[in-house]
Amino acid sequence: MGFRDRGLEIKTPEQIDLMRVAGRLVGETLEIVRAAVRPGTTTGELDRLAEANIRDHGGVPSFMGYGVPPFPATICASVNDEVVHGIPGDRVLREGDVISVDCGAIVEGWHGDAAITVAVGEVAPEIAELMRVTEESLWRGMAAAHLGGRVTDISHAIETHVRGAGRYGILEDYTGHGIGSEMHMAPNVPNYGRKGRGPQLVQGMALAVEPMVTLGSKRTHLLEDDWTVATADGSFAAHFEHTFTLTDRGPWVLTAVDGGAERLAAMGVPYGGR
Ligand code: MG
Ligand code: MG
Repeated sequence: MGFRDRGLEIKTPEQIDLMRVAGRLVGETLEIVRAAVRPGTTTGELDRLAEANIRDHGGVPSFMGYGVPPFPATICASVNDEVVHGIPGDRVLREGDVISVDCGAIVEGWHGDAAITVAVGEVAPEIAELMRVTEESLWRGMAAAHLGGRVTDISHAIETHVRGAGRYGILEDYTGHGIGSEMHMAPNVPNYGRKGRGPQLVQGMALAVEPMVTLGSKRTHLLEDDWTVATADGSFAAHFEHTFTLTDRGPWVLTAVDGGAERLAAMGVPYGGR
């Protein structure tokens, strides 16, 4: 895996403050979507709620028109064995499903990117546990980041938590990423690997961390829509993501509504937010 130390976008404190505005809007939008997830709802309805909230608050959905073929929606809605990049539409959510909702917004040119996985009604215990493990690994990853450390300190903490929790698959073909004036920037943030590698973690860096974990294989395939990534073995998957930065006090989770204060405190990690 290659890393480039050069070409990393270092943000000023004022630019980070704008990323916080975008990030908070993404976090609030995901909470609106979470509250709307229930049996009988379509993924398209969730998408319309997200787009309305982003635009009502002066943001622009960043996924819309992204890539080739152009992504046609505000959220990625990935159900059950779909891991990431599912296209919302007419699919009706059913009791026992699990849905990953990924959302990005731009405010004044600055990006926020985050994802949650939500149970539809009651899900099987092993799926609930998969979700818990995946979300916890995201927080462990961010908690492992400190100024002067390296990008793969995050990767290593994610992998260590997931491997310690059971026999799960961790996707390797998709990673977290730098973020700022664009959604996807250097460096990659893998969800596995040895610590102490990759670019140094410095003030003004912003990273989107996004573990993608399955109940089975780490192998995936692309569906015919050219976007949806599904597990090769049909096993269920979970995906959680936050955009965060480091201040001289600690991590600041730009896409968490509370900046990450509560979860970081629970882990005994100082909160770096303003
Ligand atoms: Mg995302
Ligand atoms: Mg992302």
